Amino acid sequence: MAQSTDGFFEQYGGKYVAEVLRRPLDELQAAFKEAMADPKFLEELEVIQRDYIGRETPLYFAPTATKILGGAQIYIKLEGLANTGAHKINNAIGQCLLAKRMGKKRIIAETGAGQHGLATAAACAKLGLDCTVYMGEVDVRRQQPNVAAMELYGAKVHAVTSGSRTLKDAVNEAMRDWAANPDSTHYVLGSALGPAPFPDIVREFQSVIGREVKKQCAERGVKIGAMVACCGGGSNSIGFFAPFIDQKEPRLIAVEAGGVGPNVGQNAARMTGNAGRVGIMQGYKSRFLLDDDGQALATRSISAGLDYCGIGPQLAALGEKGRVEFTSALDSEALDAVKFFAKNEGILFALESAHAGAAAIKLAREIPSDQALVINMSGRGDKDVFITSPVFRKDAWLNFLHAEIERLEDAKDIHDAESMEK
Ligand SMILES: *Cc1c(COP(=O)(O)O)cnc(C)c1O
Repeated sequence: MAQSTDGFFEQYGGKYVAEVLRRPLDELQAAFKEAMADPKFLEELEVIQRDYIGRETPLYFAPTATKILGGAQIYIKLEGLANTGAHKINNAIGQCLLAKRMGKKRIIAETGAGQHGLATAAACAKLGLDCTVYMGEVDVRRQQPNVAAMELYGAKVHAVTSGSRTLKDAVNEAMRDWAANPDSTHYVLGSALGPAPFPDIVREFQSVIGREVKKQCAERGVKIGAMVACCGGGSNSIGFFAPFIDQKEPRLIAVEAGGVGPNVGQNAARMTGNAGRVGIMQGYKSRFLLDDDGQALATRSISAGLDYCGIGPQLAALGEKGRVEFTSALDSEALDAVKFFAKNEGILFALESAHAGAAAIKLAREIPSDQALVINMSGRGDKDVFITSPVFRKDAWLNFLHAEIERLEDAKDIHDAESMEK
């Protein structure tokens, strides 16, 4: 079941959108099918993947972690070494290239924490496309480093002031824009969810991760016992799992955000938590964290990328069928995993990816020692310094921030706008 059947994965998926969005979605579906059958498109994509993204990303054997954990051979897919620091660029480049082929000059995207917006802004800069990123006003304020990067890439960041002023509202605003400008504009959706054909498109562009893992393991004669990936909307996990889904093995394990505990509002556990239920939101049917009135519940996670109330329809279906196992990791376990792999392997996981790391630490002994446990490090942790520092070294960080504010307030050494332009 790699591909959806008419946009559905068992009961999940579909295309629950307003009439005005049907045509752009149908056109996108046809163009995508055509592009994926065109050797010239695939070759162009491959060259950009190699020269711009930096593929293939390494599959790293982690000797110290393997020894300490005392079970499976631990391997880490270093997806965080991709240009822009995470897997999101795989989808952004793929969709922007597709948009260009369709003759679109303008790209829009939604973003929560800013990672998908950043990847899309970079892809547009690379491919010469006009870029507008919709981002909730609350997120704009919280995620200034990513906003700054998007602006450097030349994107216009549009602060959304409706509703809760976060990701959900940014998606609505992007859909509205697309419905109004379908001929000039392509909407680059950021995860393997939303109305069909987005779950298929995003999975296909992310499946390069899994194909590389398969090839890298085959070349080295490594037998995979289990693969583990973190799961927000589900794009890195479904791309990592994709080439293995139709096989019985290996075990495929997706890790949700356990947040600070099991109660409603404390996590983002759609498959493993208490509040996950079937619903239809933002154009697709899947499992969501909903209240009794069917409204989206607040979610919580230390990792911005996993902090979302919905999950991709294919993963929901694979979870119910049992092909993909779901588990969760707490904020505290993710933080411990960041430390563990940094100290023992010299690899700094993003907080999202560290959820997969945390699950792997627990799982390693369940896998025979002659088999591999492959962790997808979906992103690297540089971006998280504003979140991890206040936890790991609060006083030093506070001093730093105070000193920075002072420095900026009497900044004589900082270039003003005029000298920047010269
Ligand atoms: C956005 C993000 C995620 C979560 O998104 P998925 O669609 O579930 O992959 C995971 N890891 C990193 C580094 C991210 O930026």
